[in-house]
Amino acid sequence: MEDSIMQDAVLGFDLGGTRIKMGIVERSGRVHGFRSTSTDSAKGRAHLLNVLRQIGQSAPGEAASLGLRLVGVGIGTAGFVDAQGRVAYATENLPGWTGTNLKKELEEATGLPAAALNDVHAMALGEAWLGLPASRGLRDFVCVTLGTGIGGCLIQNGQIFGGRDGYAGGFGHQIVMQEGGISCGCGSSGCWESYASVNALKRLIAERLPSDPAEINRTADDPQNVSSPIPLPDPRQLFEAARSGSSLALAIVDEYASRVAVGLVNLVHTLNVGDFVIGGAIAAQGDFLLRRIAGEVERQIMPVYRGEGITLHPATLGEQAGVIGAASALWRDLPMK
Ligand SMILES: [Zn+2]
Repeated sequence: MEDSIMQDAVLGFDLGGTRIKMGIVERSGRVHGFRSTSTDSAKGRAHLLNVLRQIGQSAPGEAASLGLRLVGVGIGTAGFVDAQGRVAYATENLPGWTGTNLKKELEEATGLPAAALNDVHAMALGEAWLGLPASRGLRDFVCVTLGTGIGGCLIQNGQIFGGRDGYAGGFGHQIVMQEGGISCGCGSSGCWESYASVNALKRLIAERLPSDPAEINRTADDPQNVSSPIPLPDPRQLFEAARSGSSLALAIVDEYASRVAVGLVNLVHTLNVGDFVIGGAIAAQGDFLLRRIAGEVERQIMPVYRGEGITLHPATLGEQAGVIGAASALWRDLPMK
């Protein structure tokens, strides 16, 4: 195919503790060849870089077979990434990753311009570009991912607000409990993440678990219903029980919603933000959970901040959000053709 009629595309990566996702992203946002592979993070940094290099080197051929010309590589990674595209700090989910100059490694491996950023920052960019905020014309919003931990990103006028070093968005580590707070992986205690992440929800379910597990299935209408006891703690089963009317499951969901709301309320008071995009594993619970959290936010915020209302939008790009967002970080730097 003639070079001149080939469309430009960017290789996007989303690197987490368990999976590396990738895809070839056109300037329109269309994704080709989306797939994922195990991170095998225990094998360490050299292994990870090798995987990225191999994919980076075979991608131009894959792109060409689609009639696309690869013009860059974008990567979102778990951990803190500085403005130079270096991983300043990553937890033990990615052993040895701290200190990796990811942008430079990818540029050397592919000979193409590269962009490296935090994975939640990438997801937020993806949502800002093609997600619900984009379709609503929202230029300012806060992205929060409720997963194993809590990630965050502030989008201001369509751009990531990175702060001095690029690390803004560590909302999960705002302290919500000073006295006797649960200790957090960050070294502090009482962090929001320890009360509102999926792991925190598992802990909450275990704490509220009645001595008779069948109790969770009893509904207000049918207090004698003790069929099919639910093995706990499993958040998905908790939500299933709550949706089918279990009073106990609903009470736990409401308690969790209230804990999530505390952190969001702090963000409303700090940033005067009106729109949140909620991602992460818990976003799969959709409106059932989001409207409970929104109700709690409404109840807890100072009335002057209510404005036209505080809206919680579910993240809409799903598992491709990070790949699309990482690619869009590159598109922002490349000249339009
Ligand atoms: Zn913490």
